[in-house]
Amino acid sequence: MDIRLYNTASRSLEIFRPLDPERVTMYVCGPTVYHYAHIGNARPYVVFGLLARLLRRRYPRVIYARNITDVDDKINAAALAAGVPIEAITRRYTATFHEDMEALGADPPDVEPRATEHVSQIIAMIERLIARGHAYLAQGHVLFAIESFPEYGKLSRRSLEEMIAGARVEVAPYKRHPADFVLWKPSPPELPGWESPWGRGRPGWHIECSAMSETHLGDTIDIHAGGVDLVFPHHENEIAQSVCAHGGKPFVRYWLHNGFVTVEGAKMSKSLGNILLISELRQQAPAEAIRYLLLKAHYRQPLDWSRLALEQARRTLDRLYGVLRDLEHVEALPAPCPEPIEAALADDLNTPRALAELSALADRARERADPESKGELLAAGELLGLLRLRPEEWFGQERPPLDQAEIERLIAARTAARKARDFARADAIRAELAALGVVLEDGADGTRWRIAR
Ligand code: AMP
Ligand code: ZN
Repeated sequence: MDIRLYNTASRSLEIFRPLDPERVTMYVCGPTVYHYAHIGNARPYVVFGLLARLLRRRYPRVIYARNITDVDDKINAAALAAGVPIEAITRRYTATFHEDMEALGADPPDVEPRATEHVSQIIAMIERLIARGHAYLAQGHVLFAIESFPEYGKLSRRSLEEMIAGARVEVAPYKRHPADFVLWKPSPPELPGWESPWGRGRPGWHIECSAMSETHLGDTIDIHAGGVDLVFPHHENEIAQSVCAHGGKPFVRYWLHNGFVTVEGAKMSKSLGNILLISELRQQAPAEAIRYLLLKAHYRQPLDWSRLALEQARRTLDRLYGVLRDLEHVEALPAPCPEPIEAALADDLNTPRALAELSALADRARERADPESKGELLAAGELLGLLRLRPEEWFGQERPPLDQAEIERLIAARTAARKARDFARADAIRAELAALGVVLEDGADGTRWRIAR
């Protein structure tokens, strides 16, 4: 059974064939450590971690690299705002990132390179780019000359005019072309800096990933992944740097990008105050429910997060753990992961299908109550990173009460739908509430609700 992946470069599904089946390589752009990770940040690490897990079942050696960006202007700003040294910021948020990822069962990478530990490789790469005529020095900055690379814009399918018009590039008087980007910039004494042939300075963000990927995985890698916001300019720039530094050798064979997580239909943003931190979500629901909801949508689709969706995810897991509790007297027989689950994942990580299969396996296990089907259910859970607890641990977790305001908001939406004679929507809301254990009673004086027991 082949693994098929949607390659952003070709905008199509392709059969995955590694360059060297004895050494499969994957690089996922890691976090910039200046804040607590939010649920959107978790998505790439949960889904592409699952891909690493799938690859490991097929290939003897998989090297999964996920970096830590620990030098960045946003980190400097956070340190200044908090009045603490920069290392205090990066150390704190690297540690909380690791805690969150572990709780969510996001597979740890084999190598976790830090930008600050790769400055000599970064400088060497920039020197090569200058020597080959792809980069130039201007007012203490080293810039990449995008006009020296005719394929610039190919991944994101943007023309140079579009890049400039979209104002996604910083226009500066010393640039030869407005879309030229920074490889190295000067650092004043109070900011982190390293000695270089161009004076004391620090690297730009894009060159960090090119240099770390080269150091740990080689010139051409199989898979490179991250959120869809990274296609342009980050990944476009990584391609330009790596291809030009390696004499035209291809950089990445399969580009993968996850869709964005929104919250109640809106983009997460500081100004809206709707940034959902993983650490906060872990107070609302067990980490496995958070993982379940992240996997419930296909990774390329947008995923709209809501408190109710999280509650539903927990209820679904209640049902699955309920099966395991009922079968506690049955000794599970070690079993391989059933084929339909692996087939769903091999189909461009079709996790919604895999979760539907998991539910079907649970139904079968309950019906048959035999060691084989219980073993299969556990094996499927193991591959998906679910059902990792014992049933009594799962049910023993504290449950925060259902959010009343949320329920009332949904009831109001249903009433409005009924008034507008949109009965399909009204029924869908009733079903959603029922899944949360909320029973509605329509009466002359409106709709009342109660929690079913
Ligand atoms: P950052 O630390 O900002 O570089 O982001 C780390 C990863 O999270 C990158 O792969 C981003 O593309 C991804 N990411 C950031 N915000 C979201 C979001 N709302 N939904 C999905 N992925 C996101
Ligand atoms: Zn990167």
